[in-house]
Amino acid sequence: MTGDMVMDPATGEARGYALSSGGGDWIERPDCPACGGTGTAVGKLFKQDNHLGGLAAPHPAKPIELRRCGTCELVYKTLVASPALLERLTAQTQAGLWISAYDYAEEIALLRAIDPAVLDDVIDVGAAGGGFLRALAPARRSSALDIVRFASLRINGEFVKGFLDDPALEWSGEAYGLVGLFDVAEHFYDPPQAFANLRRFCRKGGLVILETGDSDAVSMARLPRWYYLNLLEHHIAWNRTSLAAIAAKHGFELASFERKVHKDKTPPGLRHRIKAQAFSLAPQLISGFYRLLGKPFDVPADMAVDHMRVVLRAI
Ligand SMILES: [Zn+2]
Repeated sequence: MTGDMVMDPATGEARGYALSSGGGDWIERPDCPACGGTGTAVGKLFKQDNHLGGLAAPHPAKPIELRRCGTCELVYKTLVASPALLERLTAQTQAGLWISAYDYAEEIALLRAIDPAVLDDVIDVGAAGGGFLRALAPARRSSALDIVRFASLRINGEFVKGFLDDPALEWSGEAYGLVGLFDVAEHFYDPPQAFANLRRFCRKGGLVILETGDSDAVSMARLPRWYYLNLLEHHIAWNRTSLAAIAAKHGFELASFERKVHKDKTPPGLRHRIKAQAFSLAPQLISGFYRLLGKPFDVPADMAVDHMRVVLRAI
């Protein structure tokens, strides 16, 4: 899969990602994409009328269900939006730029405590505007992997274009001391390929810092209503067990594990808190109300400790 940024013809500004791939709108996944194991049914995903940036996605032929792998505990959707579908929607929306003002101070302090020597040779996967790299500067080599090169990205190393789960990524081949993987692992189509590439990017003794959702934070009964999996572009949810299993299989050990709120979360305003409270009490009523108004509905996120921050060491 390869992709290009779609530019707004009027302003010349980047509008969003375009992924190019063949195939239909939905990809069926009966088995665990991480280990191939058999999943048990968790329930039908709450939001079946998907949209991205306010644009409706066509309905899949069957309902989207959640399954939990009986072998590795990965939670996955039985149907995921194909790259082609995400491309079409993002090409038409202006919601494609993920800007964050986060300072990464906690992450850098954590890495410094584990091994300060890795900090000056880094590649950030899904680097977007380069916030993590900027926070780490100055580095001897700072590189980025993304499906598009943002105008605000400042690097002195290489730019690797593509997806981490692309089997044919082109890059220097000179492994890094540190790999950043913030809010990326939940988008993987092919986790084993992604981790195989991750290990190649990381020199022996090098570190990967990653943040992603933690399905252990959410009860099985509530998983179908978890905002995180109700996002069209999030295909899977890891927990400590599933992540440790795939990491070990690809030559990593766990150097640090913490449960936390998402790094970009700021205390929500009153309006959002009311919406979140109302949704938790009467989900069908609230989403039905939005449908009646013809407005796109997103399951409201809360301030829950539903993410994990993990450091892996390449062995
Ligand atoms: Zn599995």
